[in-house]
Amino acid sequence: PEAITIQELANRMAERAVDIIKFLMKQGEMHTINDVIDADTAQLVAEEMGHKVKRVSESDVVEGLSGDTDAPEQLKARPPVVTIMGHVDHGKTSLLDALRKTNVVSGEAGGITQHIGAYQVETPNGIVTFIDTPGHEAFTSMRARGAKATDIVVLVVAADDGVMPQTVEAINHARAADVPIIVAINKIDKPAANPVRVRNELLKYEIVVESMGGDTLEVEVSALKGTNLDKLLDVILLQSEVLDLKANPDREAGGMVVEAQLDKGRGPVATVLVQRGTLKLGDIFVAGSAWGRVRALVNDKGVQVKEASPSTPVEVLGLNSAPEAGDQFDVVPNEARAREVTEYRERKRRETRGAASARSSLEQMMSAI
Ligand code: GDP
Ligand code: MG
Repeated sequence: PEAITIQELANRMAERAVDIIKFLMKQGEMHTINDVIDADTAQLVAEEMGHKVKRVSESDVVEGLSGDTDAPEQLKARPPVVTIMGHVDHGKTSLLDALRKTNVVSGEAGGITQHIGAYQVETPNGIVTFIDTPGHEAFTSMRARGAKATDIVVLVVAADDGVMPQTVEAINHARAADVPIIVAINKIDKPAANPVRVRNELLKYEIVVESMGGDTLEVEVSALKGTNLDKLLDVILLQSEVLDLKANPDREAGGMVVEAQLDKGRGPVATVLVQRGTLKLGDIFVAGSAWGRVRALVNDKGVQVKEASPSTPVEVLGLNSAPEAGDQFDVVPNEARAREVTEYRERKRRETRGAASARSSLEQMMSAI
């Protein structure tokens, strides 16, 4: 249920907290300034103190931000968004780096590598977007916040090491998120490589690869030597076709924050993955409890662009603060709306914190008895 601290209520009414406490005392309720009171009590207090109360619910404020109202004919094919997961040292980073270098179709020879937390590879058969955030934590925290970050997981297993604890963890994450797995058996250049063993070990976790009669796609690769990377990309695009991934590019943009930081020269910078609509220069948007007007968009090659379509990762400049990885972002019609949404979220965050600290002090009190 809705709740608010006495301090926050006082702030919003521009009254003194002590007057609220006095009022409540007259009702026979003893409170201190950091206590949390429920919305009904807060409304009573406010009205008794001569204020008009307008209660807003989450849905009132954020309604329509990510509404799935696209008609089927508005949907167009979009590139798959891929996350590479696997045990430490099995070659995730090497594979991401090697795949990035295969990006020759775009003509950027030499590969200006701009690290923005995600990048796209163009192949003759289509585009693939890779999320390049380190490790499982990012993936898990994004998922915990309700963000669907990924269409496909590439599970890297080193052929000389086999299935290890974080391999299993990755399998579980992918399953929980209901995301299909493609197995990349890496380091096949190594003399000790034993891909057959990897396939057998995977059986224990109910992953049956194609060569063993199952339907999990697999590729033997060497990130080090660059072996079969084109094949891996093709298999990803094949899986993507099966998934029939689509989005409506002709609407206000929305998606997810992949990473964000406060840049010394450029201010708050967020890398976002556009998941629907097209993000354009000048758009006003909210990301978590930050907002701003898009001042510049920079793609994964470090090139300034005017817009970004679904499945495209892009750096956004112009926010008033740095959002958090996993935050949702949405383009809104105007600044007033942006303020309304972000102020609401900020307030919510403070209230949750207030409630949590009230609870813990109550727990302390109880345990002291
Ligand atoms: P991560 O921890 O999963 O990101 O693994 P890294 O990409 O950092 O790789 C760990 C080690 O394995 C590094 O020393 C890499 O050079 C090496 N490595 C990665 N891929 C291959 C490969 O295909 N063949 C060989 N021989 N070594 C590899
Ligand atoms: Mg790594």
